[in-house]
Amino acid sequence: MTTTKIRTRFAPSPTGFLHVGGARTALFNWLYARHYGGTFVLRIEDTDLERSTEESVDVILEGMRWLGFDWDEGPGPDGDIGEFAPYFQSARLDIYKSYIKKLLDEDKAYPCYCTPEELRQRREASLARGEDPKYDRRCADLIQSEREALALEGRESVIRFRSSDEGSTVVNDLIHGEIIFDNAMLDDFVVLKSDGTPTYNFAVVIDDHLMEITHVIRGDDHISNTPRQIQVYEALSFPLPEFAHLPMILGSDKTRLSKRHGATSVTEYRDAGFVPEALDNYLALLGWSFSASDTLFTTQELIEKFTLERVSKNPAVFDMKKLEWMNGVYIREMPIERLTELVLPRLQEAELLPHEIDAETRQRVKQIASSLQSRLRTLADFVPSSRYFFTDEIHYDEAAVDEFLYQDHIPEMFEMLHAGLKNLQAFGESDIEQVFRGVQKHLGMKLGEVIQPVRVAITGTRISPGMYEVLAILGQERTCRLLENVITKVKTELSKA
Ligand code: GLU
Repeated sequence: MTTTKIRTRFAPSPTGFLHVGGARTALFNWLYARHYGGTFVLRIEDTDLERSTEESVDVILEGMRWLGFDWDEGPGPDGDIGEFAPYFQSARLDIYKSYIKKLLDEDKAYPCYCTPEELRQRREASLARGEDPKYDRRCADLIQSEREALALEGRESVIRFRSSDEGSTVVNDLIHGEIIFDNAMLDDFVVLKSDGTPTYNFAVVIDDHLMEITHVIRGDDHISNTPRQIQVYEALSFPLPEFAHLPMILGSDKTRLSKRHGATSVTEYRDAGFVPEALDNYLALLGWSFSASDTLFTTQELIEKFTLERVSKNPAVFDMKKLEWMNGVYIREMPIERLTELVLPRLQEAELLPHEIDAETRQRVKQIASSLQSRLRTLADFVPSSRYFFTDEIHYDEAAVDEFLYQDHIPEMFEMLHAGLKNLQAFGESDIEQVFRGVQKHLGMKLGEVIQPVRVAITGTRISPGMYEVLAILGQERTCRLLENVITKVKTELSKA
């Protein structure tokens, strides 16, 4: 048992959105730190100046906040927070250069003057000869005067790490166990580019060391980078952190999860009406499990239960249906006030509610939310399933209208209902039910034969919460008005026939 305080990090490159795989990596790092009372660091790996953007940083931070992954060190509202700042790699270039200098001084790295075009030609030539296309070390043993001559030609240089060719590098992975890499497979990779920026494999080692990261937890697409990084750790006499490579996430067709499989960015899930606690719960199960049968965990339970021993090395399959089911569970179980707050902006965006809303409207939305709560899979479902509560412009399912409304008995039946409902003194669910039952008896019909046409008339669809409840929420005046509108619509249609 180690007494070192656990420090994990999530180190996204801000070249796009926060995708599901990145969010899962962030979650596991966060859970691991929280489980052991450690520290979670957020470091922005923005050394690729061309591809990194501020918008991407914003989207990533926003996604992290939305998912609830608070970081102890990293970007803050007014600059970086934490004793190892800065946490943006672009602000650490001098640090990397000082370590590059150390490697150069110790002859563990060397400048390389080969141009990209020369490298390409030689790589192709090796491939054509059936040889390994790795860097041929042409610049590895230049003497100072040769370097100066190449520089005088106007050639730019990169710095390459002098990799060991012999023996092997062993990665002791907490999830995959021991992985042995033959050093002959590794080439003298670039550590500093000609524009003065470090490469990922170099900067990541310097930062993980200086930021005292104890556990490097990341996707297993990085496994092949790890032996290179270990060689840099060794060259600089840095102690190794623990490594844990998380299993790949696959789509339903068992290929790596990508856009083809649907939404991959966290923001898209938020906009599609997923709630963060459901996404956290679902992401946790992408590679981790507690038992074969337990799937629902609050965030607090995840923190309590999460350990790396329970992370699998086998790929995880992203199952949209299961995520939707889980989201529905979280929506059903959330306090009605929270659901109300979550759906209000969606109704405003759909222009079903004005931007300023009074207490009475809020109360009504709460009633509607409560009647629909058990039926929602996503928050986005709320708008189409509640439209009719807010507007007289009903979106009709034409097939349902043909089947249930354009029938000869409907005008009379609706007129009876209308008269009964209009006369009610109180407009509660049981009062409304009385009227329905009265009409049903009078006409000698089944209750469903009265209710279903009303449902289609009022909601435009075949599916809705209980009709008495819906009408009670709509109120007497609107119910009667909507029935009047429908009676006119049906009579007009029938007169055409
Ligand atoms: N910036 C790297 C990435 O986004 C970080 C990988 C790592 O965690 O070491 O893939």
